[in-house]
Amino acid sequence: MNGIDEKLQPILAEVIRRNAGETEFHQAVHEVLESLGRVVAKHPQFLDQALIERICEPERQIIFRIPWVDDNGQVQINRGFRVQFNSALGPYKGGMRFHPSVNVGIIKFLGFEQTFKNALTGMPIGGGKGGSDFDPKGRTDAEVMRFCQSLMTELHRHLGEQTDVPAGDIGVGGREIGFMFGQFKRLTNRYEAGVFTGKALAHGGSRARTEATGYGNTYFVQAMLQTKGTDFEGKKVAVSGSGNVAIYTIEKVSSFGGKVVACSDSSGFVVDRDGIDLDLLKEIKDVRRERISEYAKLKGNGVHFISSENGSVWDVPCDVAMPSATQNELSGKDALSLVKNGVMAVGEGANMPSTPEAIKIFKDAGVLFGPGKAANAGGVATSALEMQQNASRDSWTFEQTESRLCEIMRGIHDVCHQTAEEYGAPGDYVLGANIAGFIRVAEAMRTLGVI
Ligand code: GLU
Repeated sequence: MNGIDEKLQPILAEVIRRNAGETEFHQAVHEVLESLGRVVAKHPQFLDQALIERICEPERQIIFRIPWVDDNGQVQINRGFRVQFNSALGPYKGGMRFHPSVNVGIIKFLGFEQTFKNALTGMPIGGGKGGSDFDPKGRTDAEVMRFCQSLMTELHRHLGEQTDVPAGDIGVGGREIGFMFGQFKRLTNRYEAGVFTGKALAHGGSRARTEATGYGNTYFVQAMLQTKGTDFEGKKVAVSGSGNVAIYTIEKVSSFGGKVVACSDSSGFVVDRDGIDLDLLKEIKDVRRERISEYAKLKGNGVHFISSENGSVWDVPCDVAMPSATQNELSGKDALSLVKNGVMAVGEGANMPSTPEAIKIFKDAGVLFGPGKAANAGGVATSALEMQQNASRDSWTFEQTESRLCEIMRGIHDVCHQTAEEYGAPGDYVLGANIAGFIRVAEAMRTLGVI
């Protein structure tokens, strides 16, 4: 219960008791409660009506069986989840994750984070998250399609453009969204485009949605750097991951004059002193769906691949670190190594990628630290723009969409920055994001009564 106000400790104890073994969920709640001590000291009304307890309890949790037949005619069984966390600000909104590590605790932590993240965007969206322990790696398109259809056969009854609007996350991209939306449309006999975001343009998808999380994180870090009178120009950057978030982070950082010298996947990382070649990375990851070691093989010329047993991408000296892979990927040891090498800013492209130990090390060293629920909110913000386009049967240009994204990210940065100042912790974006996100959700809940 380290660092948590006395009045809030029983709330965390109850969350741990009720959600036994769900360590990532406990971690996410712990971090938010740590920030709320200052809020309840200033506004004791938030302890009334058990608002904080209610925010920690999902409104609805759906767990279901997903049976499907693989290419060899074998029946496979996966487990599906949708946690509808909070709908005070709008329909549940959040991605679906397909990864073997998925369990109810992971989906709950993601849904909890999503609730505050979505509130920070200022858009009318509540928080939710879903997924399955299905592993798309090595599966054929036909297998992925049958799996998505089976999942949607169950999940469709819980969705709707005014109810719950899924999107992508790890393991879920355009292909999977297409299959899920296709099955939803078939089962409901409705062309309800706004029920999914991250769709292809042909089905009402938004331009710039694919790029949005990586671009948004880059805008957020740029805004943090500007508070110190600097920017990306000439900075060396390390990015973890090599999916959508990483790829479009690399693209935007390069356009701002920074040089991304390293990126990774779960097998290891590559270091390219000339700057990562984006076309080659896209070809390997998006088209061929291969491992990052291929990058070193194809590029040759002094580019190294180092396997995860032999090192960490965070040992590569850099000015800015942008973790864009998965939760708890950046440990205390990694943070020490980054600080020793002079890192000045960290922007979290993934959800909760830094461990609590790592965050403390960054904070103590005075590193600018943009937490995921603020820094990676560009993806879901652009999803809300997609919903807006669907509702008005419109389709915006790339420039129009990106300029809204840029405005929203600037707004999120500023509200986190100002809130941290207002609550006596200038420069603490974790505190700023947690408090600003919480207040928006809690105020909306309070005025709706006890529901
Ligand atoms: N999965 C993304 C996130 O973590 C996007 C969610 C969405 O667009 O609904 O925010």
